[in-house]
Amino acid sequence: MKSYTQLVHPKSSVVDPYQANCPPIYQTATFAQESLDERAPYDYTRSGNPTRTLVAEQIAELEAGQFGFLFSSGMAALATVVGLLNPGDRILVGDDIYGGTHRLVTKHFAKYQLEAVFVDTTDLNKVAAALTDKTKMVLIETPTNPLQKITDIKALAELVHAHQALLAVDNTFLSPWLQQPLTLGADIVIHSATKNLSGHSDVTAGAVVVNEAKLSEQIAFSQNAAGNALAPFESWLLSHNLKTLGLRVERQQANAKKIVTYLAEHPKVKKVFYAGLPNHPGYALNQAQAKGAGSLISFTTDSLTLSKKLVEGTQLFTTAVSFGSLKSLISLPCYMSHASISAAERRLPEDLVRLAIGIEDVEDLIFDLEQNW
Ligand SMILES: *Cc1c(COP(=O)(O)O)cnc(C)c1O
Repeated sequence: MKSYTQLVHPKSSVVDPYQANCPPIYQTATFAQESLDERAPYDYTRSGNPTRTLVAEQIAELEAGQFGFLFSSGMAALATVVGLLNPGDRILVGDDIYGGTHRLVTKHFAKYQLEAVFVDTTDLNKVAAALTDKTKMVLIETPTNPLQKITDIKALAELVHAHQALLAVDNTFLSPWLQQPLTLGADIVIHSATKNLSGHSDVTAGAVVVNEAKLSEQIAFSQNAAGNALAPFESWLLSHNLKTLGLRVERQQANAKKIVTYLAEHPKVKKVFYAGLPNHPGYALNQAQAKGAGSLISFTTDSLTLSKKLVEGTQLFTTAVSFGSLKSLISLPCYMSHASISAAERRLPEDLVRLAIGIEDVEDLIFDLEQNW
């Protein structure tokens, strides 16, 4: 089945007796039990809810995975995955990782004696040098955000598996519409569903997809024990938004390509970071493992004053963190999304501007930028 079809005709184990065209919201905390001897499929929403199941199954299908889980946020999903590790384990983390993930593994998990080591995973020799017997997981993003470094998922998976460790890929940046890490050998896919999967800046949610039954059981246990699953209404909103994932992502990407061309030719732009630019060092690799470079663009101006002026001056671009929304956003990562990483540890230029492109008319977006240099 083509993916657009998959988006509006998701396979589901949830049976609706009335065949509603838009699935109902099971806005309930508890479910009645038929008898004391038989276990009904659902008893308590923390443990399971049909609305959540519907969406979890759909995201699993989109990621070409067997088992999907929905969490109250991307960080809850990441905390659950990292929480699979034991005290004393070592985790290798990509060195241009999301700020919240950096904080999670260095600050939150530090007291559980987890050893987090940051590695440039675009260089497999560096990964090989950092892998030890204690390494149980490697966690990456590709492309990274905002610098768009590309890691070879397939080659990394082989290397990681040779050391009996798990490869977890945070696929938030591209979404399964553009990249499916499980098909390239990853063991775990994580999402901040707040971004592309939702796309409307209305839901905070996270997702995890795996293929292995044992991993799935561990995640299900942890989710039920810790109680961090996505609520029914949020699950329903996500299911609603998912139907247009393909339309949104394609349109946003098409807009992004035109804005990249505009920026690359602009005299005040010093450097553009976009993996879809042929002169980008990860261009060929990204082309080979993904269906595009998505709709995030970063660039430098060599002037913090100019970068700030642009971020504060644009009208159509909302100054906000996050990405993957219908509406275009603009931000200064060092002052916003990456402020939780200390200036010494953060390897980002202070004047770096990040654009998250929406579905507006691209001429209007370019006009908005053009007014503010
Ligand atoms: C936003 C984001 C997260 C965190 O997700 P929340 O839904 O905000 O908790 C994790 N990883 C990446 C790559 C993100 O962009």
